[in-house]
Amino acid sequence: MAYIASDSRYQATLFPATVEEYVSTDAPVRIIDAFVDSLDFVALGFERARSANTGRPGYDPRDLLKLYVYGYLNEVRSSRRLERECHRNLEVLWLMRRLAPDHKTIADFRRDNGLAIVGACRAFVLFCRDQGLFSARLIAIDGSKFRAAASTLRIMDRKRIIAEAEQLDAQAAKYLADLDNADLGEPGDEGNATMKALAELEKRRAELGRMHAHLEQDGRNLVVDGEPDARPMGFGRGGKPPSYNVQTAVDADTGFIIHHVVTDEVNDQRMLYPVAKATRDLLECSELMVIADTGYSSGNDAAACEADGIIACVPVRPVFNGRGDGTLYERTEFLYDAEKDQYICPIGRPLARKGGISRNSYNYKSRDCSGCDLKSRCTQSEVRWVTRHKHEDALERMRSRIEADPTLMRQRRCSVEHPFGTIKRMMGGRFLTRGIRGTQAEMALSVLAYNMIRGMSLRMSTG
Ligand code: SF4
Repeated sequence: MAYIASDSRYQATLFPATVEEYVSTDAPVRIIDAFVDSLDFVALGFERARSANTGRPGYDPRDLLKLYVYGYLNEVRSSRRLERECHRNLEVLWLMRRLAPDHKTIADFRRDNGLAIVGACRAFVLFCRDQGLFSARLIAIDGSKFRAAASTLRIMDRKRIIAEAEQLDAQAAKYLADLDNADLGEPGDEGNATMKALAELEKRRAELGRMHAHLEQDGRNLVVDGEPDARPMGFGRGGKPPSYNVQTAVDADTGFIIHHVVTDEVNDQRMLYPVAKATRDLLECSELMVIADTGYSSGNDAAACEADGIIACVPVRPVFNGRGDGTLYERTEFLYDAEKDQYICPIGRPLARKGGISRNSYNYKSRDCSGCDLKSRCTQSEVRWVTRHKHEDALERMRSRIEADPTLMRQRRCSVEHPFGTIKRMMGGRFLTRGIRGTQAEMALSVLAYNMIRGMSLRMSTG
């Protein structure tokens, strides 16, 4: 039996007559092209948004953004690979109209236009909102750790920095002594090599000095050599790897990422209000309902959300009684009397507020525990103390919202975890660039690519 016949490579009519014919009418690359062309590059702050009248012409930032968005959409993120795609990928040939910037130009564009790229990502969110692709009825907030472009071996503490600095100083002293002993009247190859080695030691010594200053300035215990914005967090082989904490606010109905931010916060506890507020500001709505997991439980953020018209639904982290063997009464056994600002213990005796605020909480103390039959189950001290967060009322209201609708947590899980899974797959789970500005640009490109996929599938499903 014969095989299906192919065309000859030397046949003049092998390929379509125009590049336009290579790209199908519904190809995502056409959406990238149309969307980027619709952006106001001057308002977004892209460099070279207006062409210069003098000097050597540069590449149009619109073309470079198109190339990057196409790359992130197709899991091609490195500038060298994107350069290659410009020569061999038919869709890229169509998109770039045979422009083929070198990898340095491509990388420089991403490095120099971080904020503008974040702005382009936000512009796509607003475009989709205006098209009615999502309603922002309920916003699910979540965070995930993304590996920074640095190895766990590059995590330094004060001890390690000082030890390396001492080693370098000893090495430098030895080189200087060698130079003193050598005949320097006629500097030879050996002398030049020593001077070069000394210059390298000096450079490294300055880096160590910067790292030490960084630790002192930020009050941290650890710094990542070569990537000082990242922090050891999350879990990995051989300890906590240098990472960033990426926060997202996702439309619970559609899985659309409305807002995202790359942070160096090691956990999510202080992120509820900033992320919710940024989402509300972006959408310019007066009210917003947000949901998050227990990691976001914070009295300060619960109160800040309430004050700003944000309805936060977060399970409140339980407060455990750390005293004794773990069997002593929890605070939940005590009733709070708001009118008298006091707690009532299980046998009906009052605990009055003592002293001022300490670590965001007030302390309440029982006046007299003598003769109490329950004392062995309540306290090992003479009297019992109970603490109350200064925004306990806001926490209580947040707790009651969660209890009133048990489906909220399921909606959160179903909506917010999928985007992270997809983006981590698209990014290979780690950043390529260093510094928080570079990672913000990378994440904005990933989110823009993810939202484009989401937008296309939503458009198809709604006809
Ligand atoms: S030990 Fe004190 S606070 Fe606890 S139940 Fe008895 S009287 Fe109340």
